[in-house]
Formats: sequence, structure tokens, C-alpha cells
Amino acid sequence: MLKDYYSILGVAEDASPAEIKLQYQKLLLIHHPDKQQQKQPGQPPAHELIPLQEIMEAWECLRMPAQREFYDSSLKAMKLRANGQVNDDIDLDDMEYDEESSVYTSPCRCSGEYIISEDELELGVDTVVCSTCSLIVRIHYEVADEDDN
Ligand SMILES: [Zn+2]
Repeated sequence: MLKDYYSILGVAEDASPAEIKLQYQKLLLIHHPDKQQQKQPGQPPAHELIPLQEIMEAWECLRMPAQREFYDSSLKAMKLRANGQVNDDIDLDDMEYDEESSVYTSPCRCSGEYIISEDELELGVDTVVCSTCSLIVRIHYEVADEDDN
């Protein structure tokens, strides 16, 4: 399950890199346990503190444009799935695998394609939006290595 880094940071999904950075720095300041002693304006009560690790994880993911783009598409698919808007189910075994780019593809009826990368599969993404239309498929696959950290 992907975490929603945007809601952790409290920024819009289309926030600019500068906005994200500013918000990250602000959160670090007000959510840092060491700063709880000295009262800061806008400081949340202790039970509302966001773990620093989560703030940093969100920042590490969103600060790099390529990584953010990848994360965005995964997040979008996850949200669509949460809303139950899945049009079809396909089996990973039925998809074409491209060794060079490590992606699985499957044709959509609109002549677009469903594309999912191994990286996304490893993240636990199993829902893909067509590259051309708005149809969504859920991909079924066996998880080879159960690792919950
Ligand atoms: Zn399509």
C-alpha cells in the first residue's frame, strides 16, 4: 500500500517543487520532537506530530522530478482502485514482457496500452490506467517474495 506523501506533507498534488520544499522545511521545524520544548507558532500538540521519518520519506520521494512522476502515476492508480473504478482484470502472465525496459504491456481495446514496470510491481502497484483512454485494469500476479520489512 502506497502512502499518500502529499497528504503527509499537506500540499496539493500539483504543488510546485518550491512549495513542497518550503512545506517540508516548515514541517521539519514544527514536528521535530526536540523543538517541542521551545514553543513555535503553529506547533501541533504532541499527539498530532507527524513522525519525522514520514516527513523525510515523503520529501525524498517528491523532491526528484522523475521519481515524483513515477510516484504520481502509482498514486493515481491506487486512488482509482480505492474508488472501485476498475474496468477489467488481466493476468500478468498474459502480458508482454520487454526485457530491455523491464516493463509489462498489454493492449487496450482502444489501441492504447496498459503498461506496468517491475519497479511498480515491487511497490505493490497492481492497477494501471490505459496510456490513451481512461480504462483501468487490475493486474493479477503472484508475489514471489513476501517481505513486509
Ligand atoms: Zn485504452
